[in-house]
Amino acid sequence: MEKRFVYADNAATTKVSKEVLDAMYPYFTEEYGNASSIYGLGRNSKKAIEASREKVAKAIGAEPSEIYFTSCGSESDNWAIRGTCQRLKAKGKNHIITSVFEHHAILHTCQALEKEGYEVTYLPVSPLGFVNPDDVKNAIREDTAIVSIMYSNNEIGTIQPIAEIGAVCREKGVIFHTDAVQAVGNVEIDVKAQNIDLLSLSGHKIHAQKGIGAIYVRKGLALPNLIFGGAQERSKRAGTENVPAIVGLGTAIEIATADIKSKNEKVTAMRNRLIDGILQLPRTRLNGDREKRLAGNCNISIEGVEGESLLLMLDMNGICASSGSACTSGSLDPSHVLLALGLKHEVAHGSLRLSISAETTDEDIDYILEVVPNIVNRLRDMSPLWEHIIKGESFN
Ligand SMILES: *Cc1c(COP(=O)(O)O)cnc(C)c1O
Repeated sequence: MEKRFVYADNAATTKVSKEVLDAMYPYFTEEYGNASSIYGLGRNSKKAIEASREKVAKAIGAEPSEIYFTSCGSESDNWAIRGTCQRLKAKGKNHIITSVFEHHAILHTCQALEKEGYEVTYLPVSPLGFVNPDDVKNAIREDTAIVSIMYSNNEIGTIQPIAEIGAVCREKGVIFHTDAVQAVGNVEIDVKAQNIDLLSLSGHKIHAQKGIGAIYVRKGLALPNLIFGGAQERSKRAGTENVPAIVGLGTAIEIATADIKSKNEKVTAMRNRLIDGILQLPRTRLNGDREKRLAGNCNISIEGVEGESLLLMLDMNGICASSGSACTSGSLDPSHVLLALGLKHEVAHGSLRLSISAETTDEDIDYILEVVPNIVNRLRDMSPLWEHIIKGESFN
């Protein structure tokens, strides 16, 4: 098969779509007004921002007044947790509940708060990658300020029982935040029906540009200001708005949520083909639940290969993918997500995450399914450990 370029790392970032770029373009060229100015040019920018806010709100079942634009998903996560803790400090609430396999934007915020005297409960996840709503219920205390559980995991794609967790939190009167960066546009979200108080989302995971995000803050919650300055974002996050990026996010979220069902049918079929194809290799296992996972997510551990070597060889063959191995990040430990599932270190190190999108084609899948087994077989042939592994115990 002829070499081709296949981007299969959409959980890391996505390509800006043509529609998004077209929608943004005028705000780089003719429509450069400052949204705070009173003349027409400025008012055009203001109108564009508000139209985008409406689109973001509609996509998750919120009111436009409950949406604030931020610079990224990480910023939204930080603001949600720090802001809530700050707001409830006077009430003596200094306990946070989250899970062990959150994104680092959540985990590192929690760790920083621990240094400031907060207590954090890190809930475990099941071997298939789920947080148990009963565990959330049992962990809630008098002094719990916030529960933060991600909507779907960025590495293994599992979709959490968000409505159940939301119901538990609402019943106990505790603020519920969800990092929905991976879920938005891929899963139907209704913040009211699901009792979500705070939700983070990001543009670059849904075919908008990098550096734009948003947070939903349920009416009446009022997070403390994040950036002091002008009156932008109702004075809560000052700074002249990034109008093109905001317009791009609005366009991207509208497209992503227009017909999630039929998009997912198409993507899931390709994803299943990937999973089934790679699992034909001996000594492999699917990480995360087979059904309750993001349509585009395939995460498989391949025993006897090193994730980094696999990625380099895939790159040489034109395939962009990701791994549960974290050597590039300067840490010798494999992914905290895979370890949380109970995987052994050596197994977690040999993991491959392929994340596809609606732009992926059947030919791309054919190509991946031809290249991956070839590379795996070559790496295993070269590995001094492989002989031992096939004589030893299966990890399945
Ligand atoms: C990408 C991602 C983030 C961070 O979003 P940025 O916009 O890159 O800051 C946070 N949480 C999850 C689950 C993500 O996948």
